[in-house]
Amino acid sequence: MFRTVLSRLMVIFLAVVMVAMGVQGIMLYNVYKNDTILRTQQYLMEEAHGIAELMGRFLTTQQGKLDLYTYLSVTTRKSQSRVWFVNADGKINLEALPGNQGVQEVASLGVLSDEEQEHYLAPVLAGKEFSMVGNFRGRFTDDTITVACPVYYGRGVIAGAVFVHCQVKELDGAYNNAWKIILLASTFAATLAMILIYMTARSITQPLAEMNLAARDIAKGRFNRKLERTGPDELGQLAESFNIMADELKKQEQTRISFVANVSHELKSPMTSIQGFAQGMVDGTIKPEEHEKYLSIILDETRRLNKLIRELLDLSQFENGNFSLNMTTFDLNELIRRVVIRYLDRMEAQGIEPEIEFRQDYCYVLGDSDRIEQVLVNLLDNAIKFTPEGGQIRIWTHNSQDKVLVSISDSGAGISEADLPFIFDRFYKVDKAHTDKKGTGLGLAIVKSILEQHGESIQVSSKLGAGTTFAFTLKRAEKPSRDESKKISSKNE
Ligand code: ATP
Ligand code: MG
Repeated sequence: MFRTVLSRLMVIFLAVVMVAMGVQGIMLYNVYKNDTILRTQQYLMEEAHGIAELMGRFLTTQQGKLDLYTYLSVTTRKSQSRVWFVNADGKINLEALPGNQGVQEVASLGVLSDEEQEHYLAPVLAGKEFSMVGNFRGRFTDDTITVACPVYYGRGVIAGAVFVHCQVKELDGAYNNAWKIILLASTFAATLAMILIYMTARSITQPLAEMNLAARDIAKGRFNRKLERTGPDELGQLAESFNIMADELKKQEQTRISFVANVSHELKSPMTSIQGFAQGMVDGTIKPEEHEKYLSIILDETRRLNKLIRELLDLSQFENGNFSLNMTTFDLNELIRRVVIRYLDRMEAQGIEPEIEFRQDYCYVLGDSDRIEQVLVNLLDNAIKFTPEGGQIRIWTHNSQDKVLVSISDSGAGISEADLPFIFDRFYKVDKAHTDKKGTGLGLAIVKSILEQHGESIQVSSKLGAGTTFAFTLKRAEKPSRDESKKISSKNE
C-alpha cells in the first residue's frame, strides 16, 4: 500500500496530527462547556437574587407585582429558563416559563416531593443558596442547571425559595460554535502541517532517491555521478560518504584495469621472444651453432616469467590476507651476511665493494625470516641494479630500545622527488624506457606489503644522482636460549 517512504511518512504524520488535533479539540470543547455552564450558573444566580428581592418585597408589601412579572418574563426569555417560587411547605406557588406561556400563579402547580424538599428546599429554607447540574431527582428528562436562593418575608423570615432552571441543551448553540471554531482551526493547522510535512519528507526522500539512482550507476561501472551535499545533517554526511565511496571504487577499478594491462605487458615481451627464438630454431632460421645462445636467452626469459608469476602470487596472497607469517626469533646480522655473500659475485663484477656496519654483534629480531630475506634481497638487488660501476653500497643495523633499525643505501642513480611517492606502487618503474631488462616494478610493492604484515614500515630518502637510502624497522627480540629452537610461530594478525 505504502510503496514510498514519502507516502508512509505523510500518512503517519497526518494520523499523528489528526489524533493530536482530536484530543486537543475534545479537551477544548470540555473546558469551554464547563466554563459556559459555570458562567450560566453565575448569571442565573444573579437573576434569582433579583427575583427573590422583588418577590420578597411583594410578599411583604403586596406591591410591585408588575415589576416582578416584568422581571420574570425578561429573565425567562433571555435565558430560556423556568422560574419557580416554592413556599416553605414545598408547594410551587408560581411558575414562570419562557415565551408566550408567561407566568402561572395557580394552586395546582404541584408540590415538591419529600426527597426534593429534603435535598433542595431544606438548605434554602435554612438560608443557603445552591446551584447544581442534573435532572432534579428525575423530575426533568434532560440535564438542567438549577440555582436557588431564599425569599425573605418581612424581617429575616424565609417565606420560600426561588428556583431557576435552565436546560443545558439551551447552551448548545455556544458549544456548536466552539466546535465550528475548533474544526476550522484544526483544518487550517492540519493543512499547514501537511504542507510542511510534505516539504520536509521530500527533502529527506529526494536525496535518498538520488542515492538510489547513483548506486545503480555505480553497480553498472559508472563512477562519475556526484551527489550534491544537501546540508550539514546526516543526509549531507551520507551524500559525502557516498561520493568518497564512489571515488574509492573508481580508483580501485582504475588500479584493476592498469594492473591487468601491466601484467599483460610484462608477460607479452618474454613470451614474444621465447616464441620467436623457438620458432627460429624449429624452422631453421636460427642455425644449429647459434642454438645454445638463443636457448640461454629463452632460459633467461622463462626465469623472468617465473619470477613475475611468483611475485604476482605473493602480492595476491598479501592482498587477500590468506597467508600466515612464520614468526621466529633470528639474528638479522647473520641473515644480512648470507644475502650479501649471495650477491658478492655480482657486486664484484660491477666493482662495488659493500660496506657493512653492525653496531652490535647480534641483532635478534622477531619476524618471518624467509619474508625478511625477500625484503633484503629486493632492496640489495635494487641497490646493485641502480648503482653504476665503482659505486658504493652500505648496509647498517642498529638495536634501539624495542626495535632494530636497518638501512641499505647506495651511491647510485637516485630517484627524483616526483617519482619518490610512487616507487612502492605495483609496476612502477622510474626508467620506463629500459625496464624490460631491469625488472617488473613489483619488488618494492612486495617489500612494503611484507613489512606492513609485520606491523612495520619502510622509508626512503633519495637525491637524484647522489644515491638512495631505504630504512625499515623490525621488532627487537631477546637472544634465544640454546635449547629454544626457532619455533615461535604465530598467525598474522
Ligand atoms: P623488480 O624488483 O620487480 O624486479 P624493479 O626493481 O624495477 O623490478 P622495484 O624494486 O619495485 O622494481 O622498484 C621500483 C622502481 O624504483 C625501480 O624501477 C627504480 O626505478 C626505482 N628504484 C628502486 N630502488 C632504487 C634504487 N636503489 N636506486 C634508484 N632507483 C631505485
Ligand atoms: Mg626491485
